[in-house]
Amino acid sequence: MPTQNPVHTSTQAPAVPNSENCSILGLKQAQIKLKKIMCSTTIHAIILHGKQGIGKKNLATIYARFWLCNNTSNKNLECSCKACTTYLSTNNPDVFICSPSPANRMITLSSISGKIGKEQSVKSFSLTTPLVSKNKVIILHDVDCLTRDAAHSLLKILEEPPANVKFILTTSEVSKVLDTILSRCIIVDCDAPTEENLIEKYGPLSLEEELFSYDVPERIELVRKNKDLYNEWHQNLSTILLDSTVPMNLKSYQLAESILNFSAQIEKLSDSSKKIAMLETLLSLTLWWKNIEKKNLTEHSIQKLLALCKTHQSILMNGNLKIQIHALAFQLTSS
Ligand SMILES: [Zn+2]
Repeated sequence: MPTQNPVHTSTQAPAVPNSENCSILGLKQAQIKLKKIMCSTTIHAIILHGKQGIGKKNLATIYARFWLCNNTSNKNLECSCKACTTYLSTNNPDVFICSPSPANRMITLSSISGKIGKEQSVKSFSLTTPLVSKNKVIILHDVDCLTRDAAHSLLKILEEPPANVKFILTTSEVSKVLDTILSRCIIVDCDAPTEENLIEKYGPLSLEEELFSYDVPERIELVRKNKDLYNEWHQNLSTILLDSTVPMNLKSYQLAESILNFSAQIEKLSDSSKKIAMLETLLSLTLWWKNIEKKNLTEHSIQKLLALCKTHQSILMNGNLKIQIHALAFQLTSS
């Protein structure tokens, strides 16, 4: 297994890195750019930027191999050197993956430069030489979740990168990443797949897939896998929000309960933290609202969406969830 810090890495094992079983639909331009970049010996850090769920993680996993592989003429990932074979069996010791903590969606200073018992940090990992590969590769997912001091610590490492250490960063919110970090990286934009790409892979999308995914493969797959749950969520939202005969105060209460209930189901289903489940709930609610009102997005519904986004962020700030959700539901249902 690649080295993982248990506090700040995702609990999922990294996907086996070959392009067939990874979702990197439509990211053709990004892949062309990546191949070019990774052949250059002077570049040591890249940042993949694009919508959440578009396949940045898979892209990072697949392309890390270009930097690990000992065969310098390997341009097509067909290679059986020790770096490649160990990587494919998820046993390459020269890869370090760091993601936000599932509990609070943060990457803290200890993950970047700390030393937690026997666990490595980005810094301690970067100070040793590669064991079986040409380079060590550090993959940092969602770097917009770095705390302030973690970001500054990472910046210091990027400013004086150790020899034979390469960095692959990902983010869906580039505006939240320090400019000074961005200036040390080559930015690779990951574009959304085209409609043709999506139809080719998934066939026609169902109603709930259209409502709850914003045309990115990861979300289509999530909604498809949990079809009944999202369908029920859509039915509930329609009943509560689109029926004009229900009184406003009742709507507000029902919506809050529905939000909390859906979030609890997501939490159980994916074994994720309360906050991650609530973020998925609010994201899917925002998407539902946008898609239902797509044809007629009034100033009022834009205000509602803004309120939703604001709550989205405040939930990350550790408020009282139930009170926040009831306040949000009131905002969303009052007209
Ligand atoms: Zn190789």
